[in-house]
Amino acid sequence: MSDARSSAYIDLDAVRHNAVTLDRAAGQAGLMAVVKADAYGHGAIECARAALAGGAVALAVASVEEAEELRLAGLDDVTILIMSPLTEPAGLRALGQRCEVAISDLPALERLMAVAAPDADVRVHVEVDTGMGRLGVPLDHALALADAAKIAGAHVVGLMTHFATADVTDGPEAGFMREQLVRFRALAPTFRDRFPGITVHAANSAGTLRDPDACFDMVRCGIALYGCSPFGGDPVTDDLIPVMSWRSRLSLVKHFGSRESVGYGRTWRAARGTWVGTIPVGYADGFARDLSNCGEVLVGGRRVPVIGTVSMDLITVDLGPEATERGGEEVVIIGSQGRERITADEIARLRGSISYEVTCAVSPRVARVHVG
Ligand SMILES: *Cc1c(COP(=O)(O)O)cnc(C)c1O
Repeated sequence: MSDARSSAYIDLDAVRHNAVTLDRAAGQAGLMAVVKADAYGHGAIECARAALAGGAVALAVASVEEAEELRLAGLDDVTILIMSPLTEPAGLRALGQRCEVAISDLPALERLMAVAAPDADVRVHVEVDTGMGRLGVPLDHALALADAAKIAGAHVVGLMTHFATADVTDGPEAGFMREQLVRFRALAPTFRDRFPGITVHAANSAGTLRDPDACFDMVRCGIALYGCSPFGGDPVTDDLIPVMSWRSRLSLVKHFGSRESVGYGRTWRAARGTWVGTIPVGYADGFARDLSNCGEVLVGGRRVPVIGTVSMDLITVDLGPEATERGGEEVVIIGSQGRERITADEIARLRGSISYEVTCAVSPRVARVHVG
């Protein structure tokens, strides 16, 4: 353990393993590793390398800054797709980094072509809205946009869409992914004829693991690469290994008498004499304040409850009347200890969120330690 207040250990062997798992699930389709948002808080450069070692053939990011970071780190030859719309200056930088760019409308194409040198190799993926309702050109305008791109001198190298409910396997929305798939599939042959060699892609992690028909030529996987089940279940079910393990130590352990209170607002009082531990992790580290009086962490291989209000820099836990800890012992916030394990999904469920938000929230203050 370093001198950091807390550290997030990132298991790169697990990233590589998960890439192999996803690549296998994708069948003939290639794997694009989605490393946006610093690889969902896991470290983009290291995770990109590990995913490539596990068989990924391309990378995807949300911004030009994220693409530049990867190029600067020496990831020179790999395809990088920027999935979010770009301003003109961002487009210029994207072309400078030899990135491929997703476009959803004519203005996006025009912004890109306005900054492209006459001989530039502008490579675009036409994104189609088959039901996500966010990015993407309406289905019946997709071909017109692609033709316009070709006429403008761009190379149409990709046709893509994004599923709204790939992770929803029961209830009224369970069938919607199929509907999107059917709409998208109808478009593919025309695009393949018109743009030979085009890469057709739709599936995120959930889509990849759920339906081989959704995999087309390439799959775009993020969350599963980081060892979280896209369905919110046990990652082991899908042969995924959790990647992040967030660890700290007890800074201080004190004995509390009955009725003594802990923290801001005095939201917790000891019901009996007990040992209370203070841990140097707070909401500024990404331990959400709404885990006050409801989260758990692992100490000595057992689950102990977070008590009182989560503060900016600290949390407190009830170690129990029989606790033997007196400070310095390891605390696990995400990960396993002994036979116990806390997943990002478990934390997410407590707060009505998803694992993505939990790992993305782990702030830069928490040292990332890449292992493997
Ligand atoms: C983030 C993102 C993905 C990856 O989704 P996961 O659920 O993390 O696998 C795929 N496609 C697009 C367009 C995205 O924005």
